[in-house]
Amino acid sequence: MKPQLCEEFAVRFGRYGGLFVPETLVQPLKELAEAYERLMKDGEFHSELNLLLKHFAGRPTPLYFARNLSRELKCRIYLKREDLVHGGAHKLNNTLGQALVAKRMGKTRLIAETGAGQHGVATAIVGANLGFETQVYMGEVDIERQKMNVYRMELMGAEVIPVRSGSRTLKDAINEAMRDWAASFEHTHYLLGTAAGAHPFPSMVRDFQSVIGHEAREQILEAEGRMPRSIVACVGGGSNAMGIFAPFLKDDVRLLAVEAGGRGPGRTDKIADNGASMGYGSDGILHGALTKILQDPFGQILESYSVAAGLDYPGVGPELAYLAETGRVLPKLADDKTALQGFRALSRLEGIIPALESAHAVGYAMQEPEALGDLAIINISGRGDKDLATVMDYENL
Ligand SMILES: *Cc1c(COP(=O)(O)O)cnc(C)c1O
Repeated sequence: MKPQLCEEFAVRFGRYGGLFVPETLVQPLKELAEAYERLMKDGEFHSELNLLLKHFAGRPTPLYFARNLSRELKCRIYLKREDLVHGGAHKLNNTLGQALVAKRMGKTRLIAETGAGQHGVATAIVGANLGFETQVYMGEVDIERQKMNVYRMELMGAEVIPVRSGSRTLKDAINEAMRDWAASFEHTHYLLGTAAGAHPFPSMVRDFQSVIGHEAREQILEAEGRMPRSIVACVGGGSNAMGIFAPFLKDDVRLLAVEAGGRGPGRTDKIADNGASMGYGSDGILHGALTKILQDPFGQILESYSVAAGLDYPGVGPELAYLAETGRVLPKLADDKTALQGFRALSRLEGIIPALESAHAVGYAMQEPEALGDLAIINISGRGDKDLATVMDYENL
């Protein structure tokens, strides 16, 4: 079915965003958009969510003054510690929020897509805790690569459904989940994992992740009595970046969004040599939104590449695409080598092993400290335990 644009209720960010989906998905997206808008104004909903964020997820997370890294880079650097959220990354902020929306809508089943498995795990966590039947679509290639996360999901009662279409990775898993949802939305919520896709997902995911930026704003004011000069976050689809950036959009703060610069030269016609859709992509439609994507000259989506599995989404959320175009957000690159330097440096200097995704933000900061000004926050989106085998393999190459 040909995607169509429904302007009726879809939010746009400049020309980006919108709702380019088959007819069968318009109804579920519309119902979801209405429920989310209503619940964002519902005090009881927020009390319930805040209770879970506090007692289950472990919020607020600290804003930690990284004294050794600061000395090294000659800039005062604070780390927003999303690595300390239950599950080991920021992803639970979003899955908790959406699961509560689903509950209020009377849904009994959650479906989700996952690439590296981190979002699938965060969905399995809320599925178990809040009593949903949970099924996670995952490409066959990724299932093979991420056995531990498959096992984690299964331990928590989720079923992992192998996806055999296309390149058998993340983008195909999203397509399958959307297909399922079109037929099952009466009782099923599709829990999308990043600030991308059709409306209302980019806005809803941003709002649930904005808890990161709201806390950081209060914490930096308390610690330093002023705004930071810059904030650095890594970008896959854009949820941790939008989450920390959103509450600072009106402030005089440089927002540095670090994409995976990949392994450098070596492009084949099927695989992009990076994950940098914001910096190097072009306009196209991906998963229901007009945004910046990695595509070949014929409009075929390229598979993206990064040493950090969580960064290889072949597009970026529409709001970030817009903010980058208007110059409010500055797209930056960190390649594998830079990320690994960040990974080692933060481990060694601060005793904090970051996720390889977050290590891109750290590596970029170390490479371009002059871009940070005299006071910066780096969003540590997750912890690195999941990446130890990858790093060991890389260093043995
Ligand atoms: C999934 C993930 C990312 C990338 O996703 P965004 O939606 O861009 O935040 C970054 N860091 C960690 C730790 C992740 O698990």
